[in-house]
Amino acid sequence: LEVYEAIKREVEARGAFVTIDVLLEKEETGVAVVKSGCHGFCEMGPLVRLEPSGILYTKVKAEDAAEIVDALLRDEKPVERLLYRHPVTGEVYAAEHEIPFYRHQQRTTLAHCGQIDPEDIREYIADGGYEGLLKVITTMTPEQVCQEIIASGLRGRGGGGFPTGRKWELTRIAKGDQKYVVCNGDEGDPGAFMDRSLLEGDPHRILEGMAIAGYAVGADEGYIYVRAEYPLAVRRLKKAVADAEKYGLLGRKILGTDFNFTIKIKEGAGAFVCGEETALLASIEGKRGMPSPKPPFPAQSGLWGKPTVINNVETFANVPQIIMNGAAWFSQIGTKNNAGTKTFALTGQVANTGLIEVPLGTTLRQVVFAIGGGIRGGKKFKAVQIGGPSGGCLTEEHLDLPLDFDSLQAAGAMIGSGGMVVMDESTCLVEVARFFMNFTQNESCGKCVPCREGTKRMLEILQRAVDGKGQPEDVDLLQDLAEAVRDGSLCGLGKTAPNPVLTMLKYFKDEYIAHVVDKK
Ligand code: SF4
Repeated sequence: LEVYEAIKREVEARGAFVTIDVLLEKEETGVAVVKSGCHGFCEMGPLVRLEPSGILYTKVKAEDAAEIVDALLRDEKPVERLLYRHPVTGEVYAAEHEIPFYRHQQRTTLAHCGQIDPEDIREYIADGGYEGLLKVITTMTPEQVCQEIIASGLRGRGGGGFPTGRKWELTRIAKGDQKYVVCNGDEGDPGAFMDRSLLEGDPHRILEGMAIAGYAVGADEGYIYVRAEYPLAVRRLKKAVADAEKYGLLGRKILGTDFNFTIKIKEGAGAFVCGEETALLASIEGKRGMPSPKPPFPAQSGLWGKPTVINNVETFANVPQIIMNGAAWFSQIGTKNNAGTKTFALTGQVANTGLIEVPLGTTLRQVVFAIGGGIRGGKKFKAVQIGGPSGGCLTEEHLDLPLDFDSLQAAGAMIGSGGMVVMDESTCLVEVARFFMNFTQNESCGKCVPCREGTKRMLEILQRAVDGKGQPEDVDLLQDLAEAVRDGSLCGLGKTAPNPVLTMLKYFKDEYIAHVVDKK
C-alpha cells in the first residue's frame, strides 16, 4: 500500500493522474495507478507493472516511486536496478512474461491474479466474468452442467483428487428439499497460500464457480469457509458478495431468471482438522469441528443433514473457464486422468519462491529449476516436501516424476492442496519429519486412538532422534507405528499424518539410522 500511495502521489505531483474510468471510457492520456491481487512472485515483491509495456519492477520501495514515474513520463529506458535479475545467469528481464518464473507457467485459474483489481467487479465482468453463469442458467440444464464437468476430467484440488463432476451429479440426484454448496477455504498447511491468493486476487471467480455448482445441483445457498487469519480475503469476499448482489449476479432471480443463489461467509478459527470436510460442515453448523465417519457422504447428507457439494477454492476457480471454453479444452491440458493445471506454493531453499500454476504432469525438475531458478547459494538439491503435513518427500530420483495425483500417490506422496517446500543438501530430513509430526500431533482432534496416541508416540521417537537420544530399535518401531496410524485413523488428517515419516524412512533411512546409531 505504501508503494501504491507513493507512486500515485508522484503521478499526481506531475499532473498526469487520471482515474482508470476516465482512461478507459474517455480515452484520455494520463497515468492511472491501480491495485491488483498477488502476482505470485513473492520473492521479488512488492511488484509494480507498467501497462501496456508489461515492464515489471521488483522489490520496489516507496522511495523508488519518483524514478519510476519520471522514466515512464519521459519515455525513457526502464529503471534497470529494479528489473528482475536471474540469480544464476545474471540475465536482466524487463517484461513480466519473459521472466523464466512466469514463462514456464500456464496461468489459467490464476489468470486474473495480479491483472485485475479484485475489489472492482467491473474489471472481472469486463474480462468475461459471470458469462459462464449466464451461459448455464440460460442455455443448459443442471444435468448438462454436471456432464460437462464430468467430461472435463476436473478432479478436486484440495488434495483427494476426487472427480468433481461425479460429486456434483451425486448431489444433483440426491433427494432433498434443500441443498447446499460449500467452498472449503480452510487452508492450513504450513507453507501453503494458494487459496489465499485466489480469494484475495480473484474473489468473483470463486463466487461464479459456486453459483454454477448451485445451479447444477439444485442448491440455492452457499457457504465459503475461510480462515479468519486471512482478513484481506474475508474483506474482499464480503465486498465481492455485496457487489455481485448489487449487480443481480447473486441473490434472487439471478440475471432475470428463476435461479436463486446466496452466499454466506463463515470464518474458521484456525483448526487444521476443519479442512476435513465433515469437520468443516460441523463447524459451519456451530458444533465443534470434529470429523465423522463416512458414509454418509456430504453428497447424500452434508450440511444440516442435506445434500451438499463441498469443493476447495481452486476447484471452484476452474469451473467458469470449463463452462466457457468447454470440457474438451480443459481435458487437453495436463495428462490422461489428470486434466488441467495445478497451483503450487513454491517455498524453501529455491531461488524464486512464489505462487505458481503449471499443467498437471509437469515434472518436479521443471518446477524447481526452470521456474524456481534452482537451489539458492549454489547448493545441491536434496528433496521436496510436497502436500504439506499430509504429503511426503520426493528426492533427486523423482526430479523427472510428473506432478499429478496418480504419480505422486504411487511415490508415497500426494499433491495435497499444493504446498511445495524445496530443501537443499544442508537440510536434516529427520528434523523435517519431526516438524510436520509436531504440527499434525498438535492439530489432531483427539477423537480416535490411533491418531491421538499414535502421533504422540511417533513425535516422541522423532524428538529422541533429533536430540541424539534415539535407540536402534526405534527404526522399526517408528515404521510400525506410522503404518498403524495410517491404517487405523478415522479421517484424512490421521491417515496422511505418517506420510512425511514414511517417505523419510523410504528414501532417507540411512540418515535416520545415522541419527539413532551414530547419535548425530
Ligand atoms: Fe481426529 Fe485424528 Fe481421528 Fe481425524 S484421525 S478424527 S484428526 S483423532
